[in-house]
Amino acid sequence: MSLIDPRAVLTASLTEVGCVREVNEDSCGEFQDSHGRRLLVVADGMGGHKGGATASRVAVETVGEVFQSSQTDPEKTLFAAVEAANARVYELSRDNAELRGMGTTAVMLLLGESGTAWVAHVGDSRGYRMRDGQIQPITADHSVVGEMVRQGLLSEADAAVHPRRNEILRSVGVEPTVQPDVARLDLAEGDRFLLCSDGLSGLLQDPEICAVVLREPPQQAARTLIDTANQRGAPDNVTVQIAAIPGGQSTEVTGAPLFSSSVMPADIVEENRERKVKIIAGATAVVAGLLAIAMIWMAFGGEIGSAGASRSKAPNSAPVAR
Ligand code: CA
Repeated sequence: MSLIDPRAVLTASLTEVGCVREVNEDSCGEFQDSHGRRLLVVADGMGGHKGGATASRVAVETVGEVFQSSQTDPEKTLFAAVEAANARVYELSRDNAELRGMGTTAVMLLLGESGTAWVAHVGDSRGYRMRDGQIQPITADHSVVGEMVRQGLLSEADAAVHPRRNEILRSVGVEPTVQPDVARLDLAEGDRFLLCSDGLSGLLQDPEICAVVLREPPQQAARTLIDTANQRGAPDNVTVQIAAIPGGQSTEVTGAPLFSSSVMPADIVEENRERKVKIIAGATAVVAGLLAIAMIWMAFGGEIGSAGASRSKAPNSAPVAR
């Protein structure tokens, strides 16, 4: 077992509005508990200008509060944190007309003692691990296109421009309960972790992200990644968090360009297999929900707003999976 001290992990967090949006609906936060354990969280809100920003901020704050006051093990802590965030966003949405329908994604990395980390997520904000010059996803998007990619119906490249790319299958605060995916990872010296909203992962290829994170210290790498997104027109809010485990691999990348690995790390592959069934079951429920929403919408002559229905800015976009 490695003796990595989470307090020695270098981190960076950066979030920006991008080039098109008027409001930054992303939020992020870093927390530390009394044992020195660390938590990074990225949330990407949706549901109108006020709702989206509120949902992501409340989710990050709630996750941080639960983490810092938790006396239980990291896995239970993450489930409890997501549950509490879901309840708080859901209740705020229910009780405030201007926030109705809001929700948010959430991806978080908990750096524990004894060289172990946990990743938890809901929605399509992502986590990656970079090790030995390779980048590997540590989350699988809870999204319509993500599911199509996993089923072999769509390529990653096509998913990035697919008209349904903004539809997510799970979110925090839209339903009374939500099930996060939680996985444990072993840490190695020199590992780099990155959490991001789709404003980054939709614009930069995995190998590009990897090269920057391995080449530059965390603060600088976060700046470079967001600058790159802005140079490409950043149509969405962009959020990046990086954690650099000390020691191990060189931070310099030399020679030929890196190639992306779409292979999940071996230690969480089993977990993903198990949850695939759950995702498909969830997708079926979503389809049923969509039909119900469509019927209600038609019954009201299309007067019900689509707040929270899509991360798209289009004010009258049709209701979709939320
Ligand atoms: Ca986004």
